[in-house]
Amino acid sequence: MEEMSRLFRLAADRASGYRQSLPDRLVGTPFDQGALADAFAGPLPSVPSPPEQVLTDLLAAAEPGLVASAGPRYFGFVIGGALPAATAADMLAAGWDQNAHNAVTSPAAIAAEAAAGAWLKELLGIPPSASAGFVTGCQAANTVGLAAARHQVLADVGWDVERRGLLGAPPIRVIAGDERHATIDRSLRLLGLGMDVVEPVPAGPNGAIDLGSLREVLRAGSPGPTIVCLQSGNVNTGACDQLREACELVHRHGGWVHVDGAFGLWAAASPATRHLVDGLELADSWACDGHKWLNLPYDSAFAFCARLDVHAAAMSYAAAYLVGSGGTPAGADLTAESSRRARGFAVWAGLRELGRDGVAELVDRCCALARRFAEGLTSAGFEVANEVVLNQVLVDFGDDASTDRMVAAVQADGTCWVGGTTWRGRRLMRISVSNATTTEADVDRSIAAITRLAT
Ligand SMILES: *Cc1c(COP(=O)(O)O)cnc(C)c1O
Repeated sequence: MEEMSRLFRLAADRASGYRQSLPDRLVGTPFDQGALADAFAGPLPSVPSPPEQVLTDLLAAAEPGLVASAGPRYFGFVIGGALPAATAADMLAAGWDQNAHNAVTSPAAIAAEAAAGAWLKELLGIPPSASAGFVTGCQAANTVGLAAARHQVLADVGWDVERRGLLGAPPIRVIAGDERHATIDRSLRLLGLGMDVVEPVPAGPNGAIDLGSLREVLRAGSPGPTIVCLQSGNVNTGACDQLREACELVHRHGGWVHVDGAFGLWAAASPATRHLVDGLELADSWACDGHKWLNLPYDSAFAFCARLDVHAAAMSYAAAYLVGSGGTPAGADLTAESSRRARGFAVWAGLRELGRDGVAELVDRCCALARRFAEGLTSAGFEVANEVVLNQVLVDFGDDASTDRMVAAVQADGTCWVGGTTWRGRRLMRISVSNATTTEADVDRSIAAITRLAT
């Protein structure tokens, strides 16, 4: 017993020591992948090792290869940090080793998901009657949402896709914006619809779907099973589709609306940005991440569906030994996993830690810091290529080669970490402000570094 608590304390101490080092450490220390591989490599041990020795060896092998992405000056991809209470709750989830399959395998995990799910819907403005599946990431949430869509649009024409599959099924139209996230395509692949099914709709100036074009695409095809993928939060620009108009349009055509709102759906949580996702309650399914802007530990995301019965019909499975199935669908009935990590504890803890005001403040602060980036870099003479409506900033350093050189220089410098992207045929620096610990000083320090490296 004494050994176990020493072991767990060591893990907690080293994790918190690491966290405390983040504000000051260089973000982009150069990594030696070969040395890291060597540190982990070696023959499969034939005999047991004492747990404390294992942990000590793991710390030594892994720490030189950790990316400071939980820190305040990591602006790559759309990567959030991890709130303290949520992180500690996740440690408990591992310590408790619960299987969140259903209320028999872990009553507490299912209760936490139920409470957290209700809070999430309230914060996001999703109808309280909607279902909430706790999944691994927005990729999985898109897959679950589109599986529910696939179920319903085919059920509407008398086809049971869960039993009969897609061979011989009536064709499904899938309409999605040109600037959809690539995970939508992978979800369509996994669901047997394939990527070529997509009828693309051009985007407007800042990367939101063009409503007139959506109307034309809808009208051009034959009526029948139709799924439309909309987006809150273009992964490059942060632009959000006009959900109210688009949902009304799609519903007039009898279609299903799925909203990929991995990070952008959080605009709903603040009065200052809520207008960007106006009408979101009209959609049929929603995908949203917890591990990005909400700053929950990996892996954490949510698949919401307006109809619990449709959600469960698409995802749940039955087996004779699964006592407890047959009640209200929950847990594994709403996800693609069977045995599941109890990720509801961390979600519940993160939402309690922030509260409604804290979530709104987090969204507002990240948006304000993104604008600070845009203004600072504009004043320094660089061109911001997008309209900064949320937490994403795209910067042009003159031409593709210069921009790529700048991104590489910033990454090598290590003051902060930014990524590169191609948007509308241009190479751009991509800055995403998604971390709950980022301050104005972090942004100013990063602007100063970028400016210094450019001259
Ligand atoms: C990040 C992102 C995804 C994928 O989410 P994961 O959590 O990485 O699975 C999907 N859509 C959008 C718009 C995203 O930004």
